[in-house]
Amino acid sequence: MDLENKTIIITGASSGIGATAATLFARAGANLVLGARRSSELERVAAEARRQGARAVAVPGDVTDPDYADALVGLAQKDFGGLDGAFNNAGIVGDMLPASEMSVENWNDVIATNLTSAFYAAKAQIPALLHRGRGALVFTSSFVGVSNGGLSGMAAYAASKAGIIGLVKSLASDHAEAGIRVNALLPGGTVTPAGGEGNPEALAFIASLHPMKRMAAPAEIAEAALFLLSDRATFVTGSAMVVDGGISVRLA
Ligand code: NAP
Repeated sequence: MDLENKTIIITGASSGIGATAATLFARAGANLVLGARRSSELERVAAEARRQGARAVAVPGDVTDPDYADALVGLAQKDFGGLDGAFNNAGIVGDMLPASEMSVENWNDVIATNLTSAFYAAKAQIPALLHRGRGALVFTSSFVGVSNGGLSGMAAYAASKAGIIGLVKSLASDHAEAGIRVNALLPGGTVTPAGGEGNPEALAFIASLHPMKRMAAPAEIAEAALFLLSDRATFVTGSAMVVDGGISVRLA
């Protein structure tokens, strides 16, 4: 199995891509430390991972708190003896407005949740991987980090997701020699609560922007995260892997 006996943190695990990844990684043999704010949803995802045969703990918290990043790593070390990787995936879209109409609060919230949290995660996780002498980190960016794909009002979100790609390339360069791989995953529109699930008009519009004329299922994104975290990707680092039905190459 691709993640057999590997201990992996997943943030944003209470729904969407992260929840699907938890089930997939559980089937691949991982021990899981699952993070998000909503404890009952997170516990439900952890219970499903355990049903798949994994050891899984739910650790509710807020990724904008640097102590939470440390707590997730501490738990991996205490309960499972160390950390092998993380899928740093929590994120929000925020208000979809042009920057000139966007509140400072919304800008700060999106940057804190999507980008500053990625720095906190790296700062907590990398020492644990250095201690292990190997490891892999995946950060969820977005196609919006390289192209808005025809969507309007993405100023804060696009800045946060482009920032993740810059952070990932620096981390990959800094730690390649130490055996730590770091990659960004750039999903296209994906059918999740954040992706418009439950709003058929929004889903149809987003699907129409993709050259494939459909959105991704969360499992199609989680499979790519699994690949990047596994030993099938041992020469892959510093990449910004698009899994986006072609939306980032079409000039809208
Ligand atoms: P989702 O179902 O809304 O999941 C977002 C996850 O992030 C939830 O588990 C949420 O949990 C968690 N989260 C949000 N703010 C948090 C905070 N402050 N602290 C801790 N956890 C927090 O959406 P998704 O589509 O699966 O999104 C996953 C990632 O994919 C995000 O980074 C998103 O930007 C990215 N992405 C999505 C799409 C798409 O079309 N769906 C496309 C490209 C990229 P709680 O609410 O329980 O905290």
